[in-house]
Amino acid sequence: MANKRDYYEVLGVARSATPDEIKKSYRKVALKYHPDHNPDDPHAEENFKEAAEAYAVLSDAEKRAQYDQFGHSLGGRGFQGFEDFADNFSGFGDIFGDLFEDFFGGSGGGRGRGGGSRPRRGSHLEMLCPITLEDVLDGREVKLEIPRRETCSDCKGSGAAPGSKKTPCKDCGGHGEIRVSQGFFTLRRTCPKCQGAGERIEKQCHVCEGQGQVRQTRKLSVKVPAGIHDHSRLKVVGEGEAGTGGGPRGDLYVRIEIEDHKGFQRRENDLYCEVLVPYTAAVLGGEVTVPTLTGETKIKIEGGTPSGKIIKVKGEGLPQLGNPNVRGDEYARVEIEVPSKISEEERKLLKEYAKLRSESAANKKKPFFARLKESL
Ligand SMILES: [Zn+2]
Ligand SMILES: [Zn+2]
Repeated sequence: MANKRDYYEVLGVARSATPDEIKKSYRKVALKYHPDHNPDDPHAEENFKEAAEAYAVLSDAEKRAQYDQFGHSLGGRGFQGFEDFADNFSGFGDIFGDLFEDFFGGSGGGRGRGGGSRPRRGSHLEMLCPITLEDVLDGREVKLEIPRRETCSDCKGSGAAPGSKKTPCKDCGGHGEIRVSQGFFTLRRTCPKCQGAGERIEKQCHVCEGQGQVRQTRKLSVKVPAGIHDHSRLKVVGEGEAGTGGGPRGDLYVRIEIEDHKGFQRRENDLYCEVLVPYTAAVLGGEVTVPTLTGETKIKIEGGTPSGKIIKVKGEGLPQLGNPNVRGDEYARVEIEVPSKISEEERKLLKEYAKLRSESAANKKKPFFARLKESL
């Protein structure tokens, strides 16, 4: 307490200052140092507390007179300073009421003299929209049913029955908020009685039960463009929940979920699949049928095509988003088809063929490791 600053100095007023001047000065200093405005300045809170303490003394005629006479060393007790002040803090509602008006400008801060009539934008909505890979090819018009809040048409959103009046909420004096003292700070809470509306309805609208809004299902068509990617979100402006107090609607976000496809996998705009190739075609070469997203196409393969070879089918992939004339490619991975059953004649021919492939028969006689050595 030794280096305690003079209270008049703290508030920047003359010793002869009027109560009004003291109040004005305090408001200035308190606004400047309010912790909310100086989150990164550890000294700001100190200054704020110092100013609050100074104001607590100088705004009280009796305490001010004592302070004028004895300064900080009043009979050893002093002005117990901050602790003492903290207890009385909630008593400074009026000046803090004014301060909070300054902080929040009476708009957008969740409070206003107008109570529940202040406009507020409705919430944004998100809806999942499952589509297929085929939909990505051409784009699709999807029909959605959106459960959302609409302004009640019976009461036009006021929540009051026709002819019924609204009265200011007694609990919060129409502010929509109450102040709760918590240690040094006075916090503002939404008034539990009126839910922040600041007013109470004499007789509720029976359709919306005083809520001003009702749940309804909105039917909507949304154009999903060709080439769209999984998990993308389409924004539909103004199709979210209705606002209150004349506020605008929120927006709707349509989240695209592309279902897994049995035959194809997507990578960017390319498609990947498997193609079954008869072993005779793999050996001899020839035309094989490759599946596409819309059906199938025929392509030529070379003789001696091994299992696992990737064949590119140009232009059979997905369209580019925003540029549907440009399409990706399809990549088909060769899977050799081995028949599980063959006829007697086929068996005979294959045995003969095997005999012809003498080196494969010779290979068979050599142990595996010998063959491995040869190949190194
Ligand atoms: Zn209503
Ligand atoms: Zn209230």
